[in-house]
Formats: sequence, structure tokens, C-alpha cells
Amino acid sequence: MICMYEKEKEQVVEACRRIAQDGLTVGSWGNISVRADDGKIAITPSGKNYNKTEKEDIVITSIDGDILEGHLTPSSERLMHYEIYRKRSDVKAIVHTHSVYSSILSVVDDDLPAITEDVIMILGRSVRVAKYAMTGTVDLAKNVVEALGDSNATIMKNHGAVAVGKDIDRAMAAAYVLEKSAKIYVMAKLLGKVSAVPDDDVDKLIGISEAYLKQWDRWKK
Ligand code: 13P
Ligand code: ZN
Repeated sequence: MICMYEKEKEQVVEACRRIAQDGLTVGSWGNISVRADDGKIAITPSGKNYNKTEKEDIVITSIDGDILEGHLTPSSERLMHYEIYRKRSDVKAIVHTHSVYSSILSVVDDDLPAITEDVIMILGRSVRVAKYAMTGTVDLAKNVVEALGDSNATIMKNHGAVAVGKDIDRAMAAAYVLEKSAKIYVMAKLLGKVSAVPDDDVDKLIGISEAYLKQWDRWKK
């Protein structure tokens, strides 16, 4: 049998291993997906520990939720993944974690401002906290898409973090930069007043970010 979507499944499994090893999530919380060139989605199964997730556990679905390959139930947060892919044609990978510092911002309902260069270049002008909705619902999917806008990350109220990218490397970078920056922001607020990068420089950094990040592609070869 010819197995399709091998590359996408490998990318999802490798990302699962990394977020588990690096403590961005615990057990099976969070979920990861990659959109293939033909529009099909490779997504983590629901409730399977990330250290134990294998390539054959990854489920292939259509964007409408039809299961095309796989023996396990796709992530219970799949509606959110589908809604993001529908609204953002540039997004090819999504990483949802329950990382600690992003979750702190999610419970105090505090947007992450443009505090450092990497926030702006990888995530956008700011990272907004989405309106609350129950896990797995259409409402949650809609609230996340609304707060995401054209940025590359958002925070799910009383829940966790979502990062997106034009490929899995960018989505993972966004997940890590979001968590690192949420930590800086939480710690900085404990020490005093937090200042953001001036608006003019935010615009300049947004302008040069793609050219800067293109250099990353060289290191893949
Ligand atoms: P799944 O294990 O179903 O992906 O759910 C985990 C989660 O984080 C729900 O938001
Ligand atoms: Zn979750």
C-alpha cells in the first residue's frame, strides 16, 4: 500500500516530541496539524500522550472533518484548526499548547504587547487574548480566528496558546517565541512598568521580517 501524507505525518510527530520534551505541554493536552498541498489536514489524535504518538496515529481529514486515513479519533479541537485554515490561506501548520506563561496571560486576560523584536517579527503587532468559549466548540474556533486576525499567535482565554505559520518550522518558532515572550512579560510586570517597542519601529520591523526570516530557509538544506 502506498502511504500518503508521510511528510506531513512526520512533521506532526516530530513537533509532538519537541513540545513534550521542552515542557510546552503536559501529557496529551494541546494539538498539532499540518495542511498538505492538496488541502488535506494531518492532525494529532485526541487524548494520546505526545511522547507515545507515532506516525500511524496521525489522522488525515478533509477541512470539513471527513476522516480519510487513521484509526484514532482526530483532536477534539479540530474545528479550531479547520476554521483557522479556512480563514487564513497562508497558514499551513498550527501548534496549540497549554504552555505555562501563555496560560497565565489567558487567565488574567492580558494581551501580549510588542515588547521585543522577535515578538514583532514572528508573531505580529501584538498577541490578543480571544474571548472565552468552551473547548472543542464552534464558538471557540470563531473566537480564536477573530483574535488571531492576521497575526501568527493568539491566546485562548482560560485555556492556552495557539501559534500558526506558513510551515511547521514557522508555527513551532511562533509557539516558542510566544511562550518565551509571555514569560518575559509576566516577569517584567512583576518588576515594574512594561514598555513596548515604539510604533514606528514596529512598522519597520514588520516590513523587514519576511526578508530576515527567509534566511532561515538556508539552514534547512
Ligand atoms: P485533544 O487531545 O482532543 O487534542 O485535546 C486536547 C486539548 O488541548 C483540547 O483543547
Ligand atoms: Zn487545549
